Amino acid sequence: MSSNCAFCKVIGREQQADIVYEDSTYIAFLSITPLNKGHVLLMPTPHYPSITAVPDHVREKMMTLGSHLGCALMRATDSDGFNFFLANGQCAGQIILHAHLHIVPRCPGDGLVFPSRSIAYESDEEKEEIIRNTQSRLEI
Ligand SMILES: [Zn+2]
Repeated sequence: MSSNCAFCKVIGREQQADIVYEDSTYIAFLSITPLNKGHVLLMPTPHYPSITAVPDHVREKMMTLGSHLGCALMRATDSDGFNFFLANGQCAGQIILHAHLHIVPRCPGDGLVFPSRSIAYESDEEKEEIIRNTQSRLEI
């Protein structure tokens, strides 16, 4: 637990939250800045600053649990789908440095638009270099 982490304060009951799910390893609660009704934040209860610091087995179960929560949220909010959103690092939009997964229920026409764009590679060689460099740096 990190003493200056807002999510650890929720986990330690120093900060109030609307808890949707909790077990010995995970907690999920409603976002205080919801993008849609039922927007939940799911995270491991131990403090990991980013998803890359989370052990594989904890991260894997988090994705499974997130899928089940997403289905339950769809039924609970009469939604047709949901988005997962996960920011790894401040440059990616991670504000609270405690690894967490956003689960956002979605309905057609709900007005929520994720930023989208499409960039162009300078060349096929640039694209191939990124693929090669990714493959050579992949640690599984
Ligand atoms: Zn924390």
